[in-house]
Amino acid sequence: MTDFRTAAQPFAAAFFDDIRRESRDGPGVSRQGYGPHEEYVHEKARTLARELGMEIDTDPAGNLWLTRPGRDRTLPAFVSGSHGDSVPQGGNYDGLAGVCAALTVAWMLEKENVQLERDYRVLIFRMEESSWFGRAYVGSLALTGSLLPRELELRHRTDGRTLAETVAACGFDPQVMAGGRPLRDLSKIAAFVELHIEQGPRLDASPDRRTAVVTGIRGNLRHKICRVVGETAHSGAVDREFRHDAVMALAELLNTMDRHWKAWLDRGEDLVFTAGVVNTLPTAAIAIIPGEVSFGLDMRSLSMETIRAFHALMVEEAERIGAERGVRFEWDDVLVCEASGVDPAVRAALESAAGRHGIPVQTMPSGAGHDAAVLSNAGVPVGMIFVANQNGSHNAREAMDIGDFMAGCELLWHTVCDFDLR
Ligand SMILES: [Zn+2]
Repeated sequence: MTDFRTAAQPFAAAFFDDIRRESRDGPGVSRQGYGPHEEYVHEKARTLARELGMEIDTDPAGNLWLTRPGRDRTLPAFVSGSHGDSVPQGGNYDGLAGVCAALTVAWMLEKENVQLERDYRVLIFRMEESSWFGRAYVGSLALTGSLLPRELELRHRTDGRTLAETVAACGFDPQVMAGGRPLRDLSKIAAFVELHIEQGPRLDASPDRRTAVVTGIRGNLRHKICRVVGETAHSGAVDREFRHDAVMALAELLNTMDRHWKAWLDRGEDLVFTAGVVNTLPTAAIAIIPGEVSFGLDMRSLSMETIRAFHALMVEEAERIGAERGVRFEWDDVLVCEASGVDPAVRAALESAAGRHGIPVQTMPSGAGHDAAVLSNAGVPVGMIFVANQNGSHNAREAMDIGDFMAGCELLWHTVCDFDLR
């Protein structure tokens, strides 16, 4: 058989270039979910599907399903894909890499005239990014029957239209999308594999293992706005023993939790902890002891038990610090997104394909959420492949080497081809 990477790279590179050209926005790209540039990705995929003789199906949420029939059409399909949208002025590869990989495999199957045992389906999700309406995974949530009717009333951050109006204007049915029922029979999916750029620095730091098989997708627990309430006072006139400094109390809490975090990692827990929002009052000034500070928190792990235990420890430490410093920590409701597993059999299929075909891989958890996690939480057996990328993600400088992409894509290719040979 032809060398996959050499044969397929021109196809993949041309696809990336074409979409980048069409959705270029300043230094990056912008492809809003249910907007014209996301639609272009779907249109391009439909054109390719016609050329490759694939069946074309669009579900009521606008997710696109392209099928290469297998020998036994009663078998559940092998499905691969990702999302075609992007954040505003984002990079070209977040989402599109998985779309391109799934299409590249379809292209190669046709070129090599391979008939698989089961259907191979490319699945392109609508609106994965939350940047426009504040709701992530709209396409996959709708597909699995988990999109809530009230989420359709969310408004666009600039044009003010609701998500329902936006979806309807694009030709899809918002009512059916939030009808509480899966839009397609999910039991007809034997495996869903999503290739995605890593969005973190680990793979890019490795000289030779630049592809990963994902071990699980981290869940998260968040506080949007909590407060520390102390006492505002004159910064020159009040000695330390009389102070109730809210910023000092928060700093002590964060520093304490940072040390706990390190210890938890050392004993083998999976955990990340971030205080991404910290604000004093608008009336704060350098000559005033801050009497109040608000903050937001995000903690993630593959294990919800770890998250909950770390959260409980934080509340305990805050009690202690509050008592010592004479300040009060006020917590808002926690927002929880459950961790989701990858399917052990799908993960094994990926790892054994990597071993058989000499593709060096790492294993790692996914810190970011993905459509694959939504499908997994709906009972679909999922797996994920990560590809090294540079300069992070969700920004215009996001980058990916086409050689790294082809390595990940080759892993998908072999996994698809070998799926029924195990
Ligand atoms: Zn993505």
